[in-house]
Amino acid sequence: MDIKEIEKLKQDFADWIEEKIKTDDTFGIDTDKITFVNMETFVNQYQSSDEDFAIIRLYRYESSDYGPSNIGSNSRDFCRRMARLTGLRMLRFNEIDFYNSANPGFGLNGSDNYDVFRWRGGPNCKHKWNRYLFDPQTGNTAKDTSQPDQPTKNGMVPFA
Ligand SMILES: [Zn+2]
Repeated sequence: MDIKEIEKLKQDFADWIEEKIKTDDTFGIDTDKITFVNMETFVNQYQSSDEDFAIIRLYRYESSDYGPSNIGSNSRDFCRRMARLTGLRMLRFNEIDFYNSANPGFGLNGSDNYDVFRWRGGPNCKHKWNRYLFDPQTGNTAKDTSQPDQPTKNGMVPFA
């Protein structure tokens, strides 16, 4: 694939994301509906309510190497978009699959389609899919402290 084709794919992807966000409000969870709390508050409020068990796991594309934008000066296009997207809409695990062909050329051996949950932005990417617990009743959302660190060495990630 030449550079022009790759740029075209990237542009199509950007357009598609914009369209998806604008037209499908079931895709991901809008951060406007989210109240970030710590795990203790989350658990206490959840246990004191009489809700059925309905917690949803959500993911946000983040990096502790960068500031609150989760974007570094040398972040790849794909990483910038995913950080921006998940800053607006946090994603369910199965929704991340939609992006498996969104970073052409950065998969194993330069493949165009790969598991972006596992490999994120490709070699040397500093991002992680941090897991959050979302309570749809209250909007309370806490960073899931039980998620193990994601070692980047062999690309292995913990259970989704
Ligand atoms: Zn990255």
